[in-house]
Amino acid sequence: MEKYNATDLLHNKKIAIVGGGPGGLTLARLLQLKGGNVQVYERDINKEARVQGAIVDLHFDSGLKVMEVADLMDAFKANYMPGADKFRMVDQNGKIYLDEHDNLDNAGFGNEHFRPEIDRGALRNVLINALLPGTVIWDSQFANMVQVNNAWELQFKNGTTATADIVIGSDGYRSKIRHYVTDIKALYSGATIIQGEIEHPEKACPEIYKLVGNANLIAMGTGKTIAAQPRGDGGLTFYGTSLYPENWITTSGIKFNNNDEVIAYLVDFYEGWDPLFFTLFKACTRFTPRPLNYFPLDKNWDTKPNITLIGDAAHLMPPSGEGVNTAMLDALDLCECLTSGKFKDIEEAIAAYEEQMRARAIILLQESLDGIKDFASPSDESIRKLMHQFNPNGN
Ligand SMILES: Cc1cc2nc3c(=O)[nH]c(=O)nc-3n(C[C@H](O)[C@H](O)[C@H](O)COP(=O)(O)OP(=O)(O)OC[C@H]3O[C@@H](n4cnc5c(N)ncnc54)[C@H](O)[C@@H]3O)c2cc1C
Repeated sequence: MEKYNATDLLHNKKIAIVGGGPGGLTLARLLQLKGGNVQVYERDINKEARVQGAIVDLHFDSGLKVMEVADLMDAFKANYMPGADKFRMVDQNGKIYLDEHDNLDNAGFGNEHFRPEIDRGALRNVLINALLPGTVIWDSQFANMVQVNNAWELQFKNGTTATADIVIGSDGYRSKIRHYVTDIKALYSGATIIQGEIEHPEKACPEIYKLVGNANLIAMGTGKTIAAQPRGDGGLTFYGTSLYPENWITTSGIKFNNNDEVIAYLVDFYEGWDPLFFTLFKACTRFTPRPLNYFPLDKNWDTKPNITLIGDAAHLMPPSGEGVNTAMLDALDLCECLTSGKFKDIEEAIAAYEEQMRARAIILLQESLDGIKDFASPSDESIRKLMHQFNPNGN
């Protein structure tokens, strides 16, 4: 029920969103639909600065719901990758245990089980193209900020500055805004990913490219997993995941910018696996090690009057297929709190948002911490469990 004038809270207020990932861009779109005065400050030097990564699937009750509210479903449907939501699960010998590729189910838009995949770059373009011209200020790597009266003066690494009445940190897992809100630090989940990128996989590793089949491939062996996904630009991304000690990336002595060294390590680590997987490693042109960290959510922070966090900046967790979806839900909840007319001031609106965001994130965090151990280091039993989850009738 609206108690105050819905437009009052943001009247004459400048909002700075720091970070133009899925969370920040969605928030900018939603706020602009409500007449908000928004700028997005993004570190990338321009829209084309880097490949955004592989595909993400949006879910019925989160990402897709937000796209509906943002009036972007037509643009989403024009850009998603039909069929890429299918899974193929194999063992370390490449034997197929679960194959959804020929599964001609009727799931489609409107079905709660349909999780269409979209290339991250395409999703970003859909969101950017919906913003008012000039909303995203590229090449704006946030450095620090100071409070001047009731506003913030932001400073960027390139020497430029900006002022804002409200600051939203959507700058991802290494957020620089976070530290103005809380000093709760990230912890290590126990799992690390070695991510590899393959250009022209149809030529570089044709056999495994065929097995991936433009969808999701998961290969599990005791204690380690490989996942591979197509990119929207025709490339392939793979994730080799296992449990490693904290700081293993530095203590291992592996130079991750030296492809030969990483390939030699992977071939050794996956000894006994079908050589098919080695063709995947050998085709990689770039590797990125990713220790999977998380922000503990059993501790809390006091709501601040004019600054908050969304997405990974607020609740980093190991990947579980929810991160983008949750960042988009945060954007929706925050926008609704700021524009609903239910709250007397911005601080009260932020407090209500943070309560919803935290309640959701705490459940997802626990699930993702439990899930990542099974995913990164599956036992025979957990592989069986996963197959059952995907195929409960055992057909
Ligand atoms: C290997 C892997 C696989 C994943 N798979 C999935 C999946 O399938 N589905 C899913 O839903 N989620 C997945 N996730 C999680 C998902 O990527 C994140 O949860 C999601 O991207 C968070 O969105 P965000 O907008 O909060 O942050 P980000 O996507 O991290 O965006 C942050 C933005 O802020 C910018 N930025 C950073 N620092 C600054 C600064 N100082 N100044 C200005 N700009 C800055 C960055 O350039 C970036 O554009 C995966 C994560 C990993 C690591």
